[in-house]
Amino acid sequence: MKVERPSRQVLVLGAGLAGLAAGYELVKGGFEVTIVEKNEAVGGLARTIEKNGFRFDTGPHRWYTKNDMVNNWMLKLLGKEVIKVPRLTRIYFDRKFFNYPIKIKSTILGMGLVKTILAVLDYGLVRIQAFFHSRPPVTLEEGYVSKFGRTLYEMFFRRYSEKLWGTSCKNISADWIGQRTRGFNISTIIKDILFKPQNVVSFVDEFSYPEKGIGRIAEKLAADFKKGGGKILLSSEVVTVEHDQKRVTAVVVKRKTGAKKLVIQEVISSIPISDFIQSLNPVVPSEIARTNHKLTYRDELQVAIFINKTHLTADTWIYVHSLDLPYVRFMEMDNWSDKLSPEGTTTLVFEIACNEGDQTWRQTDRQIVDLVVSAFIKEFNLITEADILGSFVHRMPKEYPVYHLGYRKDLSLLKNYLSRLGNLQLVGRNGTFRYNNMDHSIEMGLYAAWNIIEGERKFDVESVNIEREYLEEKKLFDKAPELAEDVSVEENEPSHE
Ligand SMILES: Cc1cc2nc3c(=O)[nH]c(=O)nc-3n(C[C@H](O)[C@H](O)[C@H](O)COP(=O)(O)OP(=O)(O)OC[C@H]3O[C@@H](n4cnc5c(N)ncnc54)[C@H](O)[C@@H]3O)c2cc1C
Repeated sequence: MKVERPSRQVLVLGAGLAGLAAGYELVKGGFEVTIVEKNEAVGGLARTIEKNGFRFDTGPHRWYTKNDMVNNWMLKLLGKEVIKVPRLTRIYFDRKFFNYPIKIKSTILGMGLVKTILAVLDYGLVRIQAFFHSRPPVTLEEGYVSKFGRTLYEMFFRRYSEKLWGTSCKNISADWIGQRTRGFNISTIIKDILFKPQNVVSFVDEFSYPEKGIGRIAEKLAADFKKGGGKILLSSEVVTVEHDQKRVTAVVVKRKTGAKKLVIQEVISSIPISDFIQSLNPVVPSEIARTNHKLTYRDELQVAIFINKTHLTADTWIYVHSLDLPYVRFMEMDNWSDKLSPEGTTTLVFEIACNEGDQTWRQTDRQIVDLVVSAFIKEFNLITEADILGSFVHRMPKEYPVYHLGYRKDLSLLKNYLSRLGNLQLVGRNGTFRYNNMDHSIEMGLYAAWNIIEGERKFDVESVNIEREYLEEKKLFDKAPELAEDVSVEENEPSHE
C-alpha cells in the first residue's frame, strides 16, 4: 500500500540498476521521483537488447550474491522468471582451452610438466621473498605474482589483463584483483587438488538468471516504478548540476526538445562521478578539477552475431587471451536460456575492449563485424558465412572504472569535496567509482532510498562492496524498512566478470 507522505521530490540521475532500485523503493515509500537517463532505454550496463526476435545481453551477466536480502529482493521482483543456469567458464589461451577457475589437472595437461614444475618453484620463491620483505602489492602485476607466482601470472593473467585494460599491468592498481579474485589464490587451488575430486561437477556450477535476459531486472523495475507514479525521462543527459556549496539546487538535462531544468529536494546520482563533478555549477576548485581528470574508464564494443545454428559451444562464456583475436571474451546466449533466440538459432556476443574515440571505436559497424566474424570462423571453424543471419554492434562507454595507481587517494579527495552537498548521495558502479557487480549497485540504491525514507543517513552506501572486516552490515540491516526480517549477510562473492 502506498504510504502518504508530504510531497518531497527526489531526482535520480541514471536508470541503471542502482538508480532504478532507488527509484522503485522511493515510490513505494510515497515519494515523488523522477529518473533522468541519457540513453534511449533503461538498464545501463546490464541491458538486454532485442533485434529481429533475438534477445542478447550487453556482456555476460550472471546473477550471484551471497547477500540474502538483495537476493530475496530480486527474486520477489522477478518471481518465476528466474531460472538456474549451469556455468562453464573457460580460458582460450595458445589455441587450448583451460577451465576457470583454474583446475590443476587440466592445467597440467594443458601446460605440460616442465611449466608446471616451474610454476610451483617460482610460487615458492615468491612466498620466501614475501616472508622477508612483506609489503602489500601496489600494481596489478605485483598482486597477481604474489597470489599465483610469475609463471601462472604470465600464462593466465598478464596477457588477458593487458588486452582488457589496454595498458601494462604495472599501471593498474592491485586493488582490482581483490575485487575480482577475492578468496581465490594458489593455496585455494592446492586445497582444491587435495580435497576435491577432479570431475566435471567441480568446475560447473549454477547461477540465477532471468530467462528473458538480464535486462529483465531493469525492465521490471522501470515498469513497477512507473506504475507507482514515478517518471523516467529517457534521452535526457545531465549537463549541469547547480548548487550553493551546501546542497544541489537544480539539475539541467539536455533533451532532443531542448534543455529542461529540474528543481529538487534530494538527489541520488549513479552517473559517473567524474561527469557529475564536471557538471557542477559553480565549477570546482582547480585542484579538484585536476584530480577529477585522472579518473578514466575502459570502454567496449559488443558485437552480436545471429546464427542459424544452435549450441555451438558448451560454455556460458569464454575468455580469449590470444592477442591475434580481437575480442577479450565471447558468450553464446543459447547456453544461458532457450527463450532468447528463435528456435534453431543462437546469438554469439563478442566483447572488444577499447577506449571511446580510439581507432577501434571509430571503425564502422561493418568493419567491426567483418573483423569479428573472420577471426571467429578462421580460429574455431564452427560456422561459415552462410550460417550468419544478421549482426548488431553496441558501443558501450565507461564499462570499467580504471583503478590507476594512487586512485584511492584521488577518489577520497573527490568524495570528500562532494560530501559538502548535504542532499546528494552517490551510488552505483561509476557513481562511486567502485568495481561493483549488480547486487552491489542494487544494494547501494536501496540504502540511498531508505536514507531518504527514514529522513536520516542510517545506511552507509560507501560500506557496500568493501572487505567484510570494514563492515557492520548487520547493524545497518536491523534498521531497514520492510525487509529487515529477510536479512542475513555473508561475505560477498568474488567478481563475476
Ligand atoms: C561486460 C560486463 C559484464 C558484467 N557481468 C556481471 C555479472 O556477471 N554479474 C554481476 O553481478 N555484475 C556484472 N557486471 C556489473 C554490472 O553490470 C554493474 O554492476 C551494474 O549494471 C551497474 O549498475 P549501475 O546502476 O551502478 O551503473 P550503470 O549501469 O552504469 O548505470 C548508470 C546509468 O547512468 C546513465 N548516465 C550516465 N551519464 C549520464 C548523464 N550525464 N545523464 C543521464 N544519465 C547518465 C547511464 O546511461 C546508465 O544508464 C558486468 C558489467 C559489465 C560491463
